[in-house]
Amino acid sequence: MPPHPETWLRVTPEGLFCVPGGFHIDPLRPVARAVITHGHADHARPDHGAVLATPETLAVMRTRLGAARAGASQQPLRPGEALTERGVRLWLRPAGHILGSAQICLEWRGSRVVVSGDYKRQPDPTCAPFEPQPCDVFVTEATFALPVFRHPPPEREAAKLLHSLALFPERTHVVGCYALGKCQRLIRLLRAAGWDRPIHLHGALLGLCRLYEELGVALGPLLPATAADRAALRGAIVLAPPSAVADRWARRLAEPVVALASGWMRVRQRAKSRGVELPLVVSDHADWDGLLATIVEVGAPEVWVTHGRDDALVHALGQRGIRGRALHLVGLGEEDEGPEAAPAADAA
Ligand SMILES: [Zn+2]
Ligand SMILES: [Zn+2]
Repeated sequence: MPPHPETWLRVTPEGLFCVPGGFHIDPLRPVARAVITHGHADHARPDHGAVLATPETLAVMRTRLGAARAGASQQPLRPGEALTERGVRLWLRPAGHILGSAQICLEWRGSRVVVSGDYKRQPDPTCAPFEPQPCDVFVTEATFALPVFRHPPPEREAAKLLHSLALFPERTHVVGCYALGKCQRLIRLLRAAGWDRPIHLHGALLGLCRLYEELGVALGPLLPATAADRAALRGAIVLAPPSAVADRWARRLAEPVVALASGWMRVRQRAKSRGVELPLVVSDHADWDGLLATIVEVGAPEVWVTHGRDDALVHALGQRGIRGRALHLVGLGEEDEGPEAAPAADAA
């Protein structure tokens, strides 16, 4: 009988810990050995000893954290490669979340766990698609685990933005989007929809766009938004971090149309409370259907939920005869589309 994953993959104050392998996954605090699913700040924290991740995630960590804080040593592992450490076999599979994002697959004495990190099932031209990996325990996020969250086709949301530009050609369209992943995906969606003019970027987005291009994701003509004057930005698309679109920075633009690209934009009240005129439902996380379909595909009899709406997901799993367990991992969901990034005023 293979050992139950509970006996060898433990929840510790630092996060998930593989006992026989001696490493943490996406640890919250500096640890000796870390395996990282992807480069978002709530998963890829600074100052670990040895860091193992995809080459792209390691590059993102160096860009965001600086080489000195992105791990004392970095070990790249490509999807498709595998290694065995202290009897634990470890390999990575694409998670479809952002560039470099990977599921961490672990096997010890015939018992297999897949830690998916954050993931989505919608197509995304900026990263490799999610690959289901059968396992005994599937560890999943639950950011959008409520039946109300059904993400529309992203092409439709990009078309909404271009439609608004056609209606208001003299207004600057400023779109809030997270610097890592969402921004580059949005640019590719706009290019695919035929927008070949320059896209203007808030300074906070420039570095990661440059890195995506270096790693082979072509984004077309990009210009810094600050360098251009107010008149030149009439009828332009300006991308900025979500925190910047509602403040003074955006109000300096010419009659701005404020848009925000997030899965939370499905909730009208959230858009309204944030002063978002044009909500764009574009998410890098699996929606309700995506979560349930994925869990069926991987065929795991047991699912552990790291963060998000674990209550709703565990309940739905129970109805399907799958054992669900909420891990209540702290510190996850603080970036990209987590509760902090989403407007908190939805109580109103
Ligand atoms: Zn993420
Ligand atoms: Zn996350």
